[in-house]
Amino acid sequence: MGDTWGDSRVTVATERKFETIIGLEVHAQLLTRSKMYCSCSAEYANAAPNTHVCPVCLGLPGALPVINRAAIESCIRTGLALNCEIPAFCKLDRKNYVYPDLPKGYQISQYDLPLCISGKLTFESGGREVDAGITRVHIEEDTGRLVHRTAADGSEISLVDLNRSGVPLMEIVGEPDLRSPEEARDYLIALRQLLRAIGASTGNMEEGAFRCDANVSVRSTDGEVIGAKVEIKNMNSFRAVERALKFEVERQTGLFARGESTIQETRGWVDQRGVTVAQRTKEQAHDYRYFPEPDLPPLKVAAAEVTQLRQALPELPRQRRDRYMRVYELARSDATLLGGENALASYFEAALGDDESAARARITANWIVNDLIGLQGERGLAADEMPLPPAHLHALIDAIRNGELSQRAAKELLPQLAPGEAPMDGARRLNLVALDDEDAIRSAVAITFASFPEAVADYRGGKKAAIGRLIGETIKQTSGRANPDAVRRLVQEALEAE
Ligand code: ZN
Ligand code: MN
Repeated sequence: MGDTWGDSRVTVATERKFETIIGLEVHAQLLTRSKMYCSCSAEYANAAPNTHVCPVCLGLPGALPVINRAAIESCIRTGLALNCEIPAFCKLDRKNYVYPDLPKGYQISQYDLPLCISGKLTFESGGREVDAGITRVHIEEDTGRLVHRTAADGSEISLVDLNRSGVPLMEIVGEPDLRSPEEARDYLIALRQLLRAIGASTGNMEEGAFRCDANVSVRSTDGEVIGAKVEIKNMNSFRAVERALKFEVERQTGLFARGESTIQETRGWVDQRGVTVAQRTKEQAHDYRYFPEPDLPPLKVAAAEVTQLRQALPELPRQRRDRYMRVYELARSDATLLGGENALASYFEAALGDDESAARARITANWIVNDLIGLQGERGLAADEMPLPPAHLHALIDAIRNGELSQRAAKELLPQLAPGEAPMDGARRLNLVALDDEDAIRSAVAITFASFPEAVADYRGGKKAAIGRLIGETIKQTSGRANPDAVRRLVQEALEAE
């Protein structure tokens, strides 16, 4: 697969058909308490600037790094979840470049001997399963952050905050196996889900914990034209990735259609304008003057430890999806959705409680997928917060099953429940408890018969289907509270009475 990329400049004017070649590089922050090579807190979002720093992450001369074991383990777990091989030996290397957010003037990363190699991510896209190769997963460290401000005198200044400097980062390099912008988006969604499921990263894109660069080129299906690889940066959401890649594929095929060619370069996505713009011609590996990190020993990874980490992996989203389909007979789409996120999966399983039957599971899944997730979004709740506790969803479903609440009343009740209020308490407060008082239903039937005499006449004249209308109208008379079975029986009784 290594020769998929072409870097030659080719100029051909033609009516050829082109296909798209995409490979993604993802940087994900690892969820650890301390930084990669020092004991500073890795938490930087809410800290005052330059308070989580020490000589190591400030890059002061003479300060020596120490490897964070938890970060290495988390990176190996990621590799295992991505079906990678974990070589017995790896080392750290210096990647040298100059930028104000990089105080040492180099990043401690990995070059030719990464922690994890040769993996694969299987994901769903466009209704089918796609396998995408994972070239490598390696460990590195994050940079500081630049904050751009306008000073009191009106001049533009840049401030440096080094709280993020040295935060553990892993780079997940994918093979150029993706064939469309949609596939690239679905790959990212699946990868993020996997990292969250094993607790390796928050995967939060807005906060910069999950960042993606894309390499994209086009080539003619007859193999005559191989476009140069273009790297796209600065895409800050799944949507931005998809839009940027769509734009880029059109730009590149447009160039070839006009008899021009593409060049190997780095381009930046400008979200507001919906375009990519040339930034620089792409640097080669030798521009970084990689060499082995002299202050850290190489790492020997014991097979026994890898085995232990593998055995300790939790159930992964796809395994959970399969279990939900097998054990609970959930529809594939529901199983994918509920199995994808730990928070959603635990809520679903907790709401089942002591009833693990497929019938209960399907009803519970329906409530979560059709009602709760929407309500969660409307209320701006976090991914791990639901509008009601799982035990209350269980109680709500119990109430429907034993006839205390009609389906319709339950739907009406749900958004009106006060925080922590038990469903039946809410139903009583809102007068939604099912009506099974026969006298009350009989008087509702009488009102319906008086209001729709033609339906009554139709039924008695032989159009038996008219009963449906009478049942529906009677339930409406009771604001949906009447038990449909009781209504059917009493309407029938009244129709046959004369
Ligand atoms: Zn530090
Ligand atoms: Mn990197």
